[in-house]
Amino acid sequence: MQTVSSLLDKQWYERYKAISRLNIRSSIYDVTNQCNLRCKGCFFFSSDEHKAAPEETDIARWEAFVEKEQERGVNLAILIGGEPTLHLDRVEAFYKRLPTFCATNGLIKVPRDRFPDMMVGISLWGDEEDEKLLRGKDAFAVSSRNYVGDPNTYYLYTITPRQIGRTERVIRRIAEAGFKVHMQLLSNDEGVEGFTWTASQLADIRAEMDAMLDRYPRAVISCRYYHEVITTGRMLGRPFGWMECPSVTEPMDDRQPQPKRLIRFIRWAADLQTMHRCCTSATRDCRTCKDGAAHMSWVMVNKRAHLTSAKDLQNWIEVYEMFAKLYRFIPW
Ligand code: SF4
Ligand code: SF4
Repeated sequence: MQTVSSLLDKQWYERYKAISRLNIRSSIYDVTNQCNLRCKGCFFFSSDEHKAAPEETDIARWEAFVEKEQERGVNLAILIGGEPTLHLDRVEAFYKRLPTFCATNGLIKVPRDRFPDMMVGISLWGDEEDEKLLRGKDAFAVSSRNYVGDPNTYYLYTITPRQIGRTERVIRRIAEAGFKVHMQLLSNDEGVEGFTWTASQLADIRAEMDAMLDRYPRAVISCRYYHEVITTGRMLGRPFGWMECPSVTEPMDDRQPQPKRLIRFIRWAADLQTMHRCCTSATRDCRTCKDGAAHMSWVMVNKRAHLTSAKDLQNWIEVYEMFAKLYRFIPW
């Protein structure tokens, strides 16, 4: 194995140094079991995670819980649900204490007087046609009005197999509205017909994601290596799956041998006591999991495996930078 400094020229080494200081320790929190949409394929509802635990409603308990999470070393709170904006007092319990990222469908605007610089990631499930089919409405039409001109917002675009050949229209729409966008792939948790990836579709969408990055470099937060890993499900010849996944809740992780993983990562249910298995659905077959954050983290925790060539290490740096930009640890 070679050393970082022997593999990188001065410019890449500076980029490496900027991210190696970050030491990100994230965990994920279900803020609520409720949502104002019911998307077909939502991992949360399709796996009945909304029934796993009742919601804690006492805001003082949320505040005390977040303080304990701080003591546990968490320095990035990722809020999901359900729809976190239905309970802004709970969101505020995090925001006042920790760097906080709020995932939302964008139908309710986060009030910027209360949360001036909180990072907001708005989910988008394709063009108007797909959003109507899968989510029951064109959520982009509402969310883009709500967040127009907001510098702390980006779109998290979940690409479905039906989007092949149609992603440019969506990306252009986002870019023209002045937003950034990050792409991930649908895991078809509810088996909606026509939405399960085939190998050739994955190859096609990889090429299309690369093309979008080339054509819209200011809007698209991504890198080619991420596209490769998420579409092939392979990293340095190793297949993704349960025995490699880094995003497993630490106290529930009894895998042997223990893979490289996110240190102290927990996904908490909204009762603040129950833990979920991982960052996404506990009923999902790991062999078909396309979770973007899990794939990104998979690369990030495997730095040593990328110390094989300058190109491999540069790929690792680009994925780490992408993650750091998405959560605003470095500017985009
Ligand atoms: S908006 Fe998000 S949480 Fe709500 S149903 Fe859709 S995917 Fe699930
Ligand atoms: S479903 Fe995905 S994120 Fe969850 S443990 Fe399996 S591979 Fe990891």
